[in-house]
Amino acid sequence: MAQTPLTQTPATNTASLPSGKPPLNPVNIAIFVGLPLAALVLVPLWGVYHGYSATLWWTALLFLYLNGLSITGGYHRLWSHNAYQAHPLLRIFFALWGAGALQNSILVWGSDHRRHHRHVDDNEQDPYSAGRGLWFSHMGWMLRKYNTNEEDFSNSPDLQRDPIVMWQHRHYVLLTVIMNVGLPLLVGWWAGDVIGGLLLVGLLRLIVNHHVTFFINSLAHFWGNQPYTDENSARDNGFLAFLTYGEGYHNFHHIFQSDYRNGVRWYQWDPTKWLINLCAWLGLASKLNRVPNFKIQQSILAMRFKQARDQVEQADTPQPLRETLEAEYQLFMDALNRWKDLQAQRYERRVGELGDALAEKRSRLLEKWERATVRTRLRELEYSLKMQRKRVEILMLQMQAV
Ligand SMILES: [Zn+2]
Ligand SMILES: [Zn+2]
Repeated sequence: MAQTPLTQTPATNTASLPSGKPPLNPVNIAIFVGLPLAALVLVPLWGVYHGYSATLWWTALLFLYLNGLSITGGYHRLWSHNAYQAHPLLRIFFALWGAGALQNSILVWGSDHRRHHRHVDDNEQDPYSAGRGLWFSHMGWMLRKYNTNEEDFSNSPDLQRDPIVMWQHRHYVLLTVIMNVGLPLLVGWWAGDVIGGLLLVGLLRLIVNHHVTFFINSLAHFWGNQPYTDENSARDNGFLAFLTYGEGYHNFHHIFQSDYRNGVRWYQWDPTKWLINLCAWLGLASKLNRVPNFKIQQSILAMRFKQARDQVEQADTPQPLRETLEAEYQLFMDALNRWKDLQAQRYERRVGELGDALAEKRSRLLEKWERATVRTRLRELEYSLKMQRKRVEILMLQMQAV
């Protein structure tokens, strides 16, 4: 999810070197190699020589979360995926603190990220394709002028129409300098340690945020499980979610990208989701997009069937178990059709309500009752999928035991 911070590569610069590799990107090398090296030397040196106050440590942690959440809640879920709508005040907040994360403007970041989703794992089109390896997807992609880094905003007309996005894009360099140098200087002055402020709140906080964000492109495509889909390399990983402000449930995210949640269960660590919920409660966010639970259950069960069928292919499974599996699959298909019918009924009713004046005269009680019936049936279907998942899992165990 992270992007080249200051300059994008013009198309004319992408000619290969004699080694066959594209030329290096000096600005990005200074930022992604130079700054971490400087931090490695200077931060401990100042620590030994002078020490850091608790105030500076806590402020650095606060800045880390403000930057991180502005990338995940703003750049990612709001602007790249339109997973909810945000009040202008919240959007300005995300635009400022997102610029402080030094991962390029919302426009560049968002258009790159949409390409990542559309062409995930495609080495020719996904800017940080995991197919090119862990290092490339982590930060290698930013260090050279690869063709896949060329600016292309054709997938982001909505972002180009957003005045806050365009304002941030035009003043990006100034904003990122203010957020990364100006504010840490101010904090340092306030805490009585200007150098300490620059090193801890400015430098170290920036590097840590860079790498935890980069984990989403790299580790979250290599390490973890795939409960919802195996059609791309994205993985769910609770430990990574803890480091990445909730973005570690990347398998879920790649299949349901328009959902404002990544950790869809209440107990899954997703501070970005909690922040959006809090903003909705405060009236700063609205139209939070949730994928129907049935769809989520459906994809988990579809994966189970896939695994069970693979197991059947590989092992000499007895005929009765094969038949049971196929019968379960038929039930699954029936449930999907029933769900589609119920959704169509809901939709028809809504259209009817709009177009037919008679519908307005229908007794409110009857309408409520009908809605409740459809809702109950949908819930029953959801429950039946959960039960079926358990049966298929038991069936898989039986097949293993044979
Ligand atoms: Zn991804
Ligand atoms: Zn995404």
